[in-house]
Amino acid sequence: MFEVAAALMGLLFGSFGTVVSHRVPLRENIATGRSMCPSCKRQIKAHENIPVLSWLALRGRCPGCGQRISIRYPLTELATSVLFLLAAWKFGLSVAAFVYAGFFWALVVLTVIDLEHKLLPDRIVFPLFIAGWAGLIIDALVRGQPGDLTQAAIGAAIFGGFFYLLAVLVPAGMGGGDLKLAFVLGTFLGYVGGAGAVLVGMFLSFLSGGLIGVLLIAFSKAGRKTQIPFGPYLALGTTIAVFAGESLSDLYIGMI
Ligand SMILES: [Zn+2]
Repeated sequence: MFEVAAALMGLLFGSFGTVVSHRVPLRENIATGRSMCPSCKRQIKAHENIPVLSWLALRGRCPGCGQRISIRYPLTELATSVLFLLAAWKFGLSVAAFVYAGFFWALVVLTVIDLEHKLLPDRIVFPLFIAGWAGLIIDALVRGQPGDLTQAAIGAAIFGGFFYLLAVLVPAGMGGGDLKLAFVLGTFLGYVGGAGAVLVGMFLSFLSGGLIGVLLIAFSKAGRKTQIPFGPYLALGTTIAVFAGESLSDLYIGMI
C-alpha cells in the first residue's frame, strides 16, 4: 500500500520536476505562473497536465499548434515514480524513505538539466545538501543510530575528496558542479551503506560514463572533444549503489 502511494506521489513530483528542470536554468520562478507550450504559448489546462496519461492522450503533440512535446516529460515522470516506489520498498514507512525519495527527485531534475544545459545548478545542489543533511539527522535520531551520520560524513569526504583531487590534477577535466554534487552523493551513499557503497557508487559512475562515452564516440554522435555531461552518470551510479552498493562491496570483498 505504501509502495503504491509512493509510486503515485512519484508521478506528481515527477511532473513538478519537469517544471523545475525547465525553469531553473532559465532563472524563472518555479512557484508561480502556469505552464505553457514553449512554442505557441498556449496555457496547459489541468486535464492536459496529468502525468504520462496526458502525453499519451495528446500523442505527444501540443493541441494548440501541433508542436511535438518531448518524450523526456513522461520519461521524467515515470523515472521519478519508479524511484519513489523503490525508496518506499527499501526503507519502508520511515523518515529515510521520504529523505531518499527527495534525493532521487533532485537527481532526476539534475540529470535532465545537465543533459540539456551541461550544468548542475547551485540552486538545486546546495539546498539538496542542506535539506539532505537535515533529513538524515532526523532519521538517525528517530532510529537512535547517530553513528550512521559519521558514515555519511566519511562518505562525503571520500566521494568529494576524490573529485577534489581530480579537479586539482586534471583542472580541465571536470565541471565545478560535479565536484559539489560529489559531496552530496557521498553523504547519501555513506549513510545507507558505508564506505563500501560509496566506492561502488563511484566505480559505477565512471564505468557507465566510460561505456556510454565510448559508445557515443563509436557511433560518431560525439567527437573526442565533445564535452559529455557527467552528472547523469553520477546520478545513475549513485542510485544503483544506494540499493545494491553494500551487497556488491560485500561480494567483492568475499572474492578477494
Ligand atoms: Zn503549442
